[in-house]
Amino acid sequence: MAACNEKAVLIVTRQVPDTATNVARRRIELSCQLTLGHSGPHRDMQHGEEWESTSSPVATLFRHEDEEG
Ligand SMILES: [Zn+2]
Repeated sequence: MAACNEKAVLIVTRQVPDTATNVARRRIELSCQLTLGHSGPHRDMQHGEEWESTSSPVATLFRHEDEEG
């Protein structure tokens, strides 16, 4: 069965200590593994992320990551 394969980019941000600045730390490419024509948000099971369709060709998601790890 064909997969949706919708692409998105997840930017993981991290706060710079003692400032209010967030910097991009990692960039992860997502792709939807649900069946082509599925309803609801797209989902990348490998990375455990979901996103809604947007009008832009590639959706961009942001996730904040804390100091540890
Ligand atoms: Zn999809």
